[in-house]
Amino acid sequence: MSNIFRAVLFITLLITSTLSKAEISVIIADKMISVENAKIITKPLIIIEDGVISAVGTQSDISIPEDANIIDLSGHTILPGLMDMHVHLTSDASVHGYKRLQRDTSRAAITGVMKAERTLMAGFTTVRNVGAPNYADIALRDAINEGDVKGPRMFVSGPSIGVTGGHCDNNLLPFEYGVKSEGVADGPWAVRTKVRQNIKYGADVIKFCATGGVLSKGTKVGAQQFSFEEMKALIDEAHLRGLTVAAHAHGTDGIKTAIKAGVDSIEHGSFLDKEAIKLAKKHGTYLSMDIYVTEYILGEGEKAGILEESLAKERTVGKRQRESFSNALKAGVNMVFGSDAGVYPHGDNAKQLSRMVQFGMSPMQAIQSATLEPAKLLKKSDTLGSIQTGKAADIIAVKGDPIEDISLLETVGFVMKEGVVYLNKS
Ligand SMILES: [Zn+2]
Repeated sequence: MSNIFRAVLFITLLITSTLSKAEISVIIADKMISVENAKIITKPLIIIEDGVISAVGTQSDISIPEDANIIDLSGHTILPGLMDMHVHLTSDASVHGYKRLQRDTSRAAITGVMKAERTLMAGFTTVRNVGAPNYADIALRDAINEGDVKGPRMFVSGPSIGVTGGHCDNNLLPFEYGVKSEGVADGPWAVRTKVRQNIKYGADVIKFCATGGVLSKGTKVGAQQFSFEEMKALIDEAHLRGLTVAAHAHGTDGIKTAIKAGVDSIEHGSFLDKEAIKLAKKHGTYLSMDIYVTEYILGEGEKAGILEESLAKERTVGKRQRESFSNALKAGVNMVFGSDAGVYPHGDNAKQLSRMVQFGMSPMQAIQSATLEPAKLLKKSDTLGSIQTGKAADIIAVKGDPIEDISLLETVGFVMKEGVVYLNKS
């Protein structure tokens, strides 16, 4: 055997043995939150092969495979990676209003690179990005999937679809500047075209604006935007193509119309009345209510460039939205964790969990709303949302027990996405 051949053989064997060693990982910890049956497992053991969970049990009933890479998370509770169903990774929370006009799509994509990593390190292994300029979110998702950038698994919408002059338009400049957002469409066929265009360029979900909003200039937060016919056309088109639809909706009429038109999730859901709650329950519509963001908007918003009219709108929305949250929860409506991070700082997503508990959820319910339930909304329950055999190894850990203190989830010590460890402070 020549020396060169020997060297090549040695290197090949070395690479093969390193790879096969890294392929099987075992996680042990003090506790595990089993979200699918709302139970706590003590002394759990999880086996991970090629990024997928291959066995879940306790340290007494599963033996550790030989050559496995052991991740010892003693003192920690493990749970599924968190999922946020309403983020804007390409937005910077310190840049709002007229300041945003200075940022183009390329800059937004670069912002996204930084914020995606921050979000992942905060324990969010999956996000739904609902609204980005042009298709910056699609570039970011693809860069993460191809391993160029660290970030959560992204389900993205591309530009939000909305009426001329509505919440999803850009109304900051006078007529002669001719500025309009790329998602603006009026009329049933025009909105169908926008849906088709977003799908053409890679959208996973469709987002539209069914009412005015807090941060848009000149829109009434409670007033409906799009007629029933337009919403129905938009949602039918998306469903026909196998995509789900998220509707930004604060006002009661817009919420009800979107639910009747078949929307999959209502974002914000601020002004719910009894009928809206009943409708959401009947249709199985998810509510994604950002009940933490109000604290940031009213506290830091002015500094960040949020317009005075927006601050005034937020003052009318925040308290009412939290009441709506409690009422919908009592009625048993489907609820998912959606933070609107991007309006407030990325990485602070989990701060909303303690507010969800404050306004009525049990800690277990709050955790389920950020794991099990989003997977159902995304129609990805077969691979995401819980620590079960056959699912993606998206696992996080915190010191202590988040069922006793939900705010512990604001500082995660361990993050694994698809079997790859991104953070381990244990
Ligand atoms: Zn939003």
